[in-house]
Amino acid sequence: MSGESLRRATATELRAAFQSGAATSRAVTDELFAAIEREDGVLGAWLHLRHEEARAEADRADARYATARAAGPAALSALPPLLGVPVALKDLVNLTGTPTTAGSRILEGYISPYDATIAARLREAGAVILGKTNMDEFAMGSSTEFSAYKKTVNPWATDRVPGGSSGGSSAAVAAFHAPLSIGTDTGGSIRQPASLTGIVGMKPTYGRVSRYGIVAFASSLDQVGPFARTAQDAALLLHTIAGADAHDATSSRSPLDAVLLNLPSGDAAASAIRGKRFALPKEYFVAGMEAGVERAVRDAVAALEVAGGIVEEVSLPTTEHALATYYIVAPAEASANLARYDGVRYGASKHGGGDLLNGYLETRGRGFGPEVRRRIMLGTYALSAGYYDAYYVKAQKVRTLIARDFDRIWAAGFDAIVAPTSPQVAWKFGAKMSDPVSMYLADACTLPANMAGLPGVSIPCGLSENLPVGLQLIGKPWSEAELLSISAGYEALTATAAWRAVAPHDLAKLGGGAA
Ligand code: GLN
Repeated sequence: MSGESLRRATATELRAAFQSGAATSRAVTDELFAAIEREDGVLGAWLHLRHEEARAEADRADARYATARAAGPAALSALPPLLGVPVALKDLVNLTGTPTTAGSRILEGYISPYDATIAARLREAGAVILGKTNMDEFAMGSSTEFSAYKKTVNPWATDRVPGGSSGGSSAAVAAFHAPLSIGTDTGGSIRQPASLTGIVGMKPTYGRVSRYGIVAFASSLDQVGPFARTAQDAALLLHTIAGADAHDATSSRSPLDAVLLNLPSGDAAASAIRGKRFALPKEYFVAGMEAGVERAVRDAVAALEVAGGIVEEVSLPTTEHALATYYIVAPAEASANLARYDGVRYGASKHGGGDLLNGYLETRGRGFGPEVRRRIMLGTYALSAGYYDAYYVKAQKVRTLIARDFDRIWAAGFDAIVAPTSPQVAWKFGAKMSDPVSMYLADACTLPANMAGLPGVSIPCGLSENLPVGLQLIGKPWSEAELLSISAGYEALTATAAWRAVAPHDLAKLGGGAA
């Protein structure tokens, strides 16, 4: 394997090539860095690259493969599945010795003194960590335009956003700068950018993946999860990072399904769709949904039916309240989490003439961007004595109702909910910047799963106006393996669809025509 095929290989393909000796981790790592070098000036996916460290990690992985190959097939298959496979981290994952900015000026200059649990697990698994990716400041946003550092473009159309807040991670995988990346999803920030860039992105069940060492946004909603180009790859990455962690009391001991390590593909995956019951909630076809998006999603649902899936329309009547309650709960928790950025403990510090209060005001006033300031104001208002019951307590009650809506679906025996991920394809830069509410509306279909703590995945299901559309599957708690198996089934069913052969058409522009 060489050149373009190395660059475009999935994690599963790389693993096989490393085992057989057909490729080395070092060659892939070099190839990806070369692509990043050529293209990231335009793509803008990366905030920090680990040239030296990643190459050293790749060399170590190659040495382990060589030793195992000499020892025989048992030794080879005992190696961790992501050994030598390159991964990108959203820039809110602490990784010892690297900058962690969370896309904010207030963390400029901060160097992580420790590893997040998921970073430690990736290191232990021998993954090659290429670097850190761009994001909306503190993960607040849906387009990555709120990054304090730079703009990330969508590899499908360089005048459009890659989604957000994990837009750097989604763009990197879609542009073949990495086979895998990590995102976080508080209200849709993995599924929505996956949808807008035509890749797979999963938000696991709340508590499935440790949040220790992840910069917090809204702690009762935040979940870490994988981006990949196939369901099988997403499953491998999820398996590597998931599981109980003594450092995060909300992480669950619910056992991880071994199926994640060996997700069926091809006919076996497609035949698993037969007899599955899918709920199609009518409220997810929200007002303002683009016709091309609705068409692609309905075609995908029809394909599941043709394969023997049973689809029934259902109603989730609280869906329309998810947005309003999210924008009380998330900012409230954010305002508390962001109180720690005081200019004393982390990153940037402005002295304000030696007076402590002025120091806080200067540091926070200059360090936080406009969206973060808006959220802090919304949150502190909702939590203030006179309004706490009217807003925060009320929102928590509605949150319970949203969770009960979903419970009724599982009680009725459905295996998964099928729905659109985003009502729109990737939009042009600036289109939603002057109207915060229009940006918030972009997440109407992803927020409910966060409010209920449920797992959800977005998988590519076609194109509208030559831009990717995502199909969302939402499942009962701890059903990640089931959701990804269904995803792999859908991939198999549509393996020969014409749209699957279309690659991001602005890739050539990323390298100034050289790619
Ligand atoms: N776009 C939503 C927000 O701005 C969700 C972000 C996220 O999931 N991190 O809050």
